[in-house]
This record gives sequence, C-alpha cells and structure tokens, in this order.
Amino acid sequence: MRPSQLSLRGAVRSPKAVHTRTFCVERSSGQADSSSAATSKIADEESEKGVVGRIDIIVGPMFAGKTSELLRRVEQHEAAGRKVAVVKSSVDTRYHATRVVSHDGKSKVCFAASNLRELRNQLGDEYHEYSVFAIDEAQFLPDLLEFCTTAADVDRKHIVVAGLDGDFKRQRFGQVLDIVSVADSVTKLAGKCAYCDKQALFSLRIAADERQALVGGADKYAPVCRHHYVSLNNVRTLDL
Ligand SMILES: [Zn+2]
Repeated sequence: MRPSQLSLRGAVRSPKAVHTRTFCVERSSGQADSSSAATSKIADEESEKGVVGRIDIIVGPMFAGKTSELLRRVEQHEAAGRKVAVVKSSVDTRYHATRVVSHDGKSKVCFAASNLRELRNQLGDEYHEYSVFAIDEAQFLPDLLEFCTTAADVDRKHIVVAGLDGDFKRQRFGQVLDIVSVADSVTKLAGKCAYCDKQALFSLRIAADERQALVGGADKYAPVCRHHYVSLNNVRTLDL
C-alpha cells in the first residue's frame, strides 16, 4: 500500500445517514397553466391504471441513499397492490446474491441477471404478472435503455431505476444517462462528504485501480464534495 493511499483510507469516515435530495425534475410541458396541469393529472392517472408506462430514475454518487430510496418506492408500489420485480446485476454480489441491500440495512429479495434480456427470458410469461420493475445498480446492466423503453412504451410497465450517473472519473457509466431522455422523472441524491460537512456529489475511488466497473464499498470508494473530489483525486492520480 502506498503512503497516499494509506492516508486517504485513514481519513475516510463512515458514511452518515444524511441523504439530501438536490433536485427532482418532473417532466412537464414547460407551461404551468391549468391545461398542462390537467394533462399531467390525466397522465398520472393513466400511469396508475397501467394504461401507459412510466420511467423514474434515481441517481447520485455512492453512499447517497439510492438503494434506500428505491426500496422505499418499492414499498409504496406494493402498498398500492402492484406486483414488483426487484432486479439487480449479477455483477454486484457485495452483500447478497439474491437480495438488494441498502447501506442502512433494508433488503428485498431480487432477481439477479447479467443483462435484462436474460431476465426477460428467464421470467417467460411471469414477466406479464409484474406491473413494476425496480432496478438497482443499473449502471452494470448493458441493455438498460432497450429494456426500459420496451417495458414502459410497449408493455406499459412502471420502471424505477437506481444507479450511478457518473463513475469515479465523473464520466458516464453504463446506460443510466441514456434513459434520462425517455424518463418521466429524475431524482438526484447527494450524500455527505467523507472529509467535510458539505454535500457529496461524486464518488472518489480510494483504491489504486483504474477499472471502471470495480465493485466495492467503503474500502474502495468515498463520497466527496466538489472541493475534495478535485484535491484528493489529484493526489490519487499522481500516485498511480
Ligand atoms: Zn468535502
């Protein structure tokens, strides 16, 4: 272990359970008149009845509470009587192979698949029994865009997606950003910086590894604010 890596690791505090919603974009016509409000209401009611599908996205850095928010929405759908399929990539087996587990300890039984076409094939006719698909760690699923658009547009499913909007270099990760243009809502969560009291916007990799899809927890990543992302990432990059 190199000295700077050691110092970074030593400075990481446990992520606090402080999750702040930084923004929530709900699609609208851009005109807040009564007719657009009425149209939006009709769209919501149609979505409720399963007449049209819907895509809701939860993004943010690591340790921002994305999985907790996903599971909260799953509970809401289940409370409304909808059958929900919880899905995660089989790449992510950090906590449990067949459960989605949040950092605050909640969990839900899930399907694990290497891609969503495989999941669709595995489910067969059972696919039609589910009205909601809740997808966690969506950045690891290579056919996310194709599945979401078909499920929402054609099959009238309600899709809730949680994933990283950027990797440790703040660059696009998988197809999470690709589904923003076909989504009904985008919620961006922030965590708490591991080095100060500001909001954490980015995931800083503290392990000396350049692979994009390096699965890990607090041993490999720390949530950081903009200042600490820039200053500590420079230290880390110089060390590689
Ligand atoms: Zn900071």
